[in-house]
Amino acid sequence: MSAAGRLAPSPTGAQHLGNARTYLAAWLSARSAGGRVVLRIEDIDSPRIKPGAAAQALDDLRWLGLDWDGEPVAQTPRLPLYESALDRLKQLELVYPCTCTRSDVAAAASAPHAEHEGPTYPGTCAGRSARDIPVGVPFAWRFRVTDSPAFVDRFRGPTAIDLRTAGGDFVVWKAAGTPAYQLAVVIDDAAQGVTEVIRGDDLVSSTPRQLLLYRALGLAPPAFAHLPLVVGEDGRRLAKRHGDTRLAALRAAGVKPEAVVGLLAWSCRWIAEVRPVTPRELLTAFRLDAIPPRPFVLTAELLRGIGYAP
Ligand code: GLU
Ligand code: ZN
Repeated sequence: MSAAGRLAPSPTGAQHLGNARTYLAAWLSARSAGGRVVLRIEDIDSPRIKPGAAAQALDDLRWLGLDWDGEPVAQTPRLPLYESALDRLKQLELVYPCTCTRSDVAAAASAPHAEHEGPTYPGTCAGRSARDIPVGVPFAWRFRVTDSPAFVDRFRGPTAIDLRTAGGDFVVWKAAGTPAYQLAVVIDDAAQGVTEVIRGDDLVSSTPRQLLLYRALGLAPPAFAHLPLVVGEDGRRLAKRHGDTRLAALRAAGVKPEAVVGLLAWSCRWIAEVRPVTPRELLTAFRLDAIPPRPFVLTAELLRGIGYAP
């Protein structure tokens, strides 16, 4: 089977330089292997969908010089697919209804937790069978974590994360009646024939969960690579406080896409100094293992170097 990568923007806001660096790596990895690239708008798992953001994301990607095969796919019309996966998990008794609220879980959790991870679910509702449907209260569906599959990350190498201390049993279907990210992403990557996933390392602890779902549903998992994020001079994840690093803002300020790609390619050590370059021109220089293992610190000086004053 030939390689297939994917670009999976969430339409929750504008795409910034941090997103762009990961998209560039994902595109180059698939294209340099002569593979396909699919585009998916992850519009189902977010309370923060912004109108127009999906169209803006496609514009931003095209502007950078990234392309994809076939039509972009959105998640919302694929609800029946996710529902049938949930049904399968229910039949297998691999999920149970959970009536806990966010504050219930926080109150019951004993260990401190990573900020984006949330507290580890203490298993309050794990005694329920998938047939014990709670009446008159909202409930989510949680997947029973039995083990934590280790995997060989194409960038990080052998990776093992213990899910018992990193989240515990996780939500696959939200009380709002929609699939959670973990389930939707597995169904989509499998349905779109994705063989390689390249994403930010903020998602690395999601991978063992997704591997459990691939296994439970009898689907073949892709290869995974998790790349260091782009941070500001204070070492924190790129955000508003670091000035406007949205691609749309750079574009509006007259910065050329080749200049942006050149900066990102240099940050990944695919070129020796910052100079204008197109994604296509990087196809032979691309190597995952050239990327420095530390987060990339985006400074005001680097931005000025490509003609942008944040
Ligand atoms: N839609 C997610 C994001 O934009 C990416 C999820 C993934 O790559 O699995 O952060
Ligand atoms: Zn519960």
